[in-house]
Amino acid sequence: MSGRLAVIGLGPGDERYLTPEAAAALADAQALYGYGSYLDRVPARPGQSRHPSDNREEADRADAALRRAAQGLNVAVVSGGDPGVFAMAAAICEQIAIGPDSWRALEVVFVPGITAMLAVAARIGAPLGHDFCALSLSDNLKPWPLIERRLDAAAQAGFAIALYNPVSGARPWQFASAVERLRRHLPPTTPVIFGRAVGRPDEQVAVSMLQTAASEAADMATLVIVGTRETRVIERPGRSPLVYTPRAMPRAVAEAIA
Ligand code: SAH
Repeated sequence: MSGRLAVIGLGPGDERYLTPEAAAALADAQALYGYGSYLDRVPARPGQSRHPSDNREEADRADAALRRAAQGLNVAVVSGGDPGVFAMAAAICEQIAIGPDSWRALEVVFVPGITAMLAVAARIGAPLGHDFCALSLSDNLKPWPLIERRLDAAAQAGFAIALYNPVSGARPWQFASAVERLRRHLPPTTPVIFGRAVGRPDEQVAVSMLQTAASEAADMATLVIVGTRETRVIERPGRSPLVYTPRAMPRAVAEAIA
């Protein structure tokens, strides 16, 4: 079987963030699958078919792409950011795990991309400079009480926390509830960064604090980074502030966490 499937990360925004490896894999593809607004970022090429689908149809999209690759085509599935971060790479693996044996013989490659939390962090300094974790606030694929337990554990353990999927039309209250949860563990002055549409023309990055962080500052295109007790803000004249989490954790603070 000569079919091939490439699961490709487009990065957070325009083509400046697309790696040369991803660009080459896109150019090689005969059929492109992905969420419509991600596919729109890929320039059209003659001879390439395009199969946009809705954001919620990941399993069906993965299944369709694998079927096409099994017919011998060179197929690409695209994700924004990195395909392994809350995106299509796991959906493809899940379908291979339950699909026909022949799918296991396919050549499957995963092409990494710059994930949103790294693009947002780079805009503002080094908020992820010490240990950190990433959580999706979407309770479409897991129960909300589990998200609350993970927020508690992450804040108690002293991780900086990158929050993907903070709000959507169908999930209006989750972000405020997460912030309320984190306030139980972290000082009110803990820096909170809102990075919206980073790498795109309508990019916005704002620094807030846990005590004032509000849902209105976030939407579906926003990645939120909540700092730690050690995260600092450097104000600069005529320039935007730098936010950083120091590389070293003082022993006294570490012992208080342990
Ligand atoms: N695979 C993607 C994440 C998909 S989940 C990645 O690696 O980045 C979708 C969430 O990612 C959004 O709700 C938002 O929290 C974040 N996101 C994606 N692109 C972004 C961008 N350009 N700027 C800020 N956040 C972004």
